[in-house]
Amino acid sequence: MTEPSSYPVMDVYRQREATDLSHYQQQYDESINNSDAFWRQKAQRIEWTKPFTEVENSSFDRDNLHIRWFEDGELNITSNCIDRHLDKHGDNTAFIFEPNNPDDSNRVISYKELYRHVCQMANALKSRGVKKGDVVTLYMPMIPEAIFAMLACARIGAPHSVVFGGFSPEALADRIDNGQSKVVITADEGRRGSKTIPLKDNVDVAIQHCHSTRVDTVIVVANTGAEITWVDGRDVDYTEITDEQAVDCEPVSVNAEDPLFILYTSGSTGKPKGVVHTTGGYSVYNSLAFEEIFDYHRGETYWCTADIGWITGHSYVVYGPLLNGATSVIYEGMPNWPTANRAATIVDKYNVDILYTAPTAIRAMMADGDKSIENCSLSSLRLLGTVGEPINPEAWRWLHSEVGKNNCPIVDTWWQTETGGIMLTPLPGATALKPGSATLPFFGIQPEVLDADGTVLNGPCSGGLCIAKSWPAQARTIFGDHQRFIDTYFSSYDGYYFTSDGCNRDEDGYYWITGRVDDVLNVAGHRMGTAEIESALVAHHAVTEAAVVGKPHAIKGEAIYVYVSLNSDTEASPALEKELKNWVRQEIGAIASPDTIQFANGLPKTRSGKIMRRILRKIASDECDQLGDTSTLADPTVVDQLIEQRQMIK
Ligand code: ATP
Ligand code: MG
Repeated sequence: MTEPSSYPVMDVYRQREATDLSHYQQQYDESINNSDAFWRQKAQRIEWTKPFTEVENSSFDRDNLHIRWFEDGELNITSNCIDRHLDKHGDNTAFIFEPNNPDDSNRVISYKELYRHVCQMANALKSRGVKKGDVVTLYMPMIPEAIFAMLACARIGAPHSVVFGGFSPEALADRIDNGQSKVVITADEGRRGSKTIPLKDNVDVAIQHCHSTRVDTVIVVANTGAEITWVDGRDVDYTEITDEQAVDCEPVSVNAEDPLFILYTSGSTGKPKGVVHTTGGYSVYNSLAFEEIFDYHRGETYWCTADIGWITGHSYVVYGPLLNGATSVIYEGMPNWPTANRAATIVDKYNVDILYTAPTAIRAMMADGDKSIENCSLSSLRLLGTVGEPINPEAWRWLHSEVGKNNCPIVDTWWQTETGGIMLTPLPGATALKPGSATLPFFGIQPEVLDADGTVLNGPCSGGLCIAKSWPAQARTIFGDHQRFIDTYFSSYDGYYFTSDGCNRDEDGYYWITGRVDDVLNVAGHRMGTAEIESALVAHHAVTEAAVVGKPHAIKGEAIYVYVSLNSDTEASPALEKELKNWVRQEIGAIASPDTIQFANGLPKTRSGKIMRRILRKIASDECDQLGDTSTLADPTVVDQLIEQRQMIK
């Protein structure tokens, strides 16, 4: 197998003064060896309404599991996100909103304006009876009002539960029920490229499906101005209800351990979990992480392409940037609509300095080739970031050379909904980069690699990625199901948080995520991550995307079954099939050579763009009656196509 270390080490970028790996190492050691002192000092980034005395009180012992940070402190996250910037930086831009249609006008929102919007929205919620502790569900497009609504909830201590605007009414109903929400905030319609999404209609249907809660208020933003049905008394127009409110709203001081939000995981592995994050630790951690990892300096323009329906949207569109007084671009539409170069034109239009996106978006751009960056200079960029899946080295290199013009470091950030903030990442200017590796742990994070027997491995190794000790932004529970929280994360390995991801650690201590442990293949006694074989395939010029799964095999244990989507100008053929098998054999070795290749027009992905291998595994094994929960699939029709194609190659 290709050793990760065989990837060339990129030059060390130096953009910060006096920052190099030894500086990182020193701070990192301090954060581990002197954790309380480290976080006590970092917590001064936040204005507390009541200072905390104790820093951490946590244990990963499954019989006595508890996770608490700054537990007697009180704060309001929105005072930290907004109010504290007003005196000196109130006229700075908080958000630039780029609408779906490039011909529509954009909106620029200063911190002062943000303050007014959030306060009026918070007062509107209060006028509908929302109190501290009530869960409010948001089902919104990527428009500024979605962010106002999140912050309005946080202003009054009401946890928000943001449901991605692409979910079906049934999925929405489950989440409204689960959170016992009485108030839903939505828009008439959302826009994604040439499509419109009937958000308000979906809410109407969802509410009929709810059986354990009664929604008494639906606040509706007129986004497209479409005709919608209206339930008098329940439905409220956003502009009408906010306009009449006072422009100030006293922030409610909450305990550090009061919940800030519930967010459901993307559901790659099964039924989504309602992950609960609390206020104090999350604020401290993400305030620090945003500044350090994106090397953010006030005045720079930052664009994170994530939807607010995902954790990346929460931590690095909304809270992390605002805690640092940053200026962010938010975008309603798709990166390749109406033209392949739309994302690149947005970078040029706003002189974006820092771009944070996902491998799936990068592969989509690569598939369009030069068209995706045509007529764009991209010269404002100085830092790139990725999150969501392992980035294939091929995609990494393309991003580095074609988008970053060989001039921008890439921070490959590994983390999860449950971790609340970035866990493994390079620090730009300090960490030498290796394409495909999320490199080293962030401050306070103590990763360990364990083998199947629970032995902690040392030095270069591969195994399950665990975290040995709590960190401030860690999730505290699964909403309404604490036992599931314990069972899912703390039962596989005694005393560790188990991430469910597999990884390799190389001789430089760098981490390489190989995919989910459930996806690891065992071929004739060799354990192989899906990421490596997929990366080899994507490196072939004909292949846009690849997904690898194991299929039970009498002799080898598992056979390698590969789904491949091709570039638009390439036809599937037996010759190409043979070529791809040989290609993998050459790139990795005979052991990794695929047994079966199924050419696919599309792959099943979650709505956050991740490939759902568990479904592909069932199709490969002809167990299509056991596909499991498919409610979080972006396009369920892909599955039917794959099943049909599977019949043809059997
Ligand atoms: P579910 O837990 O419901 O199956 P999910 O794990 O896809 O859904 P998220 O919390 O959004 O939901 O995703 C976290 C996962 O994404 C990680 O556990 C990891 O598998 C993958 N991931 C995220 N960032 C990276 C990265 N930089 N490199 C490799 N994998 C990543
Ligand atoms: Mg997960």
